[in-house]
Amino acid sequence: MNANSVNVAAPAANGTTVNIFEIMDRARSRPNLISMGLGDPDLATPAHIVAAAKEAIAQGRTGPAPVMGLPELRQAIAQKLTRDNGVTVDPETEVLVTTGGQEALFLVIQALIEPGDEVIMPDPRYTSYDEAIALAQGKIVLVPTREEDAFDLDPDEVEKRLTPASKVLLLVSPSNPTAGIVTPPNIRRLAEIAQERNLIIISDEIYEKFIFDDHEHLSIGSLPGMRERTITLNSASKTYAMTGWRIGYLAAPAEFVRTVTALKAMVNIQAPTVSQWAAVTAFDGPQECVDQMREIYDARRRLLMGALDEMGFTYGEPRGGLYVWANTAATGIPALELSSLFLDEDVLIFPGNGFGENWGHFVRMTLLQPIEVLAEAVTRMKCALAKRQAGTRA
Ligand code: PMP
Repeated sequence: MNANSVNVAAPAANGTTVNIFEIMDRARSRPNLISMGLGDPDLATPAHIVAAAKEAIAQGRTGPAPVMGLPELRQAIAQKLTRDNGVTVDPETEVLVTTGGQEALFLVIQALIEPGDEVIMPDPRYTSYDEAIALAQGKIVLVPTREEDAFDLDPDEVEKRLTPASKVLLLVSPSNPTAGIVTPPNIRRLAEIAQERNLIIISDEIYEKFIFDDHEHLSIGSLPGMRERTITLNSASKTYAMTGWRIGYLAAPAEFVRTVTALKAMVNIQAPTVSQWAAVTAFDGPQECVDQMREIYDARRRLLMGALDEMGFTYGEPRGGLYVWANTAATGIPALELSSLFLDEDVLIFPGNGFGENWGHFVRMTLLQPIEVLAEAVTRMKCALAKRQAGTRA
């Protein structure tokens, strides 16, 4: 399962195993379920993007596209990277359109990692990377991130863990699952470390458009000296609510893009053509829809933060992305048990152990339901906690 990507059998802190399939299976049989589980946007793909896809179909623009992607789309992506991120790339040679960000991350890891290479990554994490690295026989080196830092990545903690085998530093900012961001000063310091220690950066920026309050997203590939050692990975899935259209991309030095393109040709030849035309309009067209989505997610985020306070959970400030990541320790209820209690009340959330073995006292909730549905979910969660407390006292 993709499961955005929940590790299906992560060992829990207490030595048991988290079986997300079991939770999802139980959830399936519940008609009144409110899902705050998977990370797929609930909002509709904006109408002008859908119209562009219809137009492409009406005009018969459904035939094959080059393996690297439609030239029009690579151009639109290159312009977007310059405009939004300050990352300059040649659309002819340095951009590859992929079938979702998921394909990009998988192919990038396969192309980059030799057996024994170390990939340094913040923990907790999007565990699809674990699976891709394991397949390439690379070694994962985890860098803990902390609630008290709002899950920012501390460059000193990265530096401490570097060895001669360190090859790649993975940044996912904003983060899935923590909603933390790597703040600009830390991005700058990490860029220096990367140059001093000859690291390659994979910068997964798929949540970049959902940054809250006055926080800032800084693309590491825009910094001096970083262009040649950065692979910027992104996708239309979250930004434009286009998960099902399967359009992702990567921007990297030409030689690396050539290697990944050869792999991609073996896997699925090209990303779907109609989706590519839709994505041209997504990147080139009006961007107000993205601002509107951010406002909607922000209102939901505030509602959930208030609810977490009331339920007695602690959390690092969710600065970006589509999740809240809450610490259950103060309630004394481990994440797996809490997920199960909530499911009894028809609310699906994921236990933190799905995002790494060290996170048995955290849970991830998505912002991906209408606000009134989230309010109902909060009522149900409070009811579950009240029942548990009454049961414990009895
Ligand atoms: N990277 C991260 C951090 C993600 O959370 C996801 C999906 N949830 C992806 C990549 C892949 O997304 P997609 O394939 O839909 O672009």
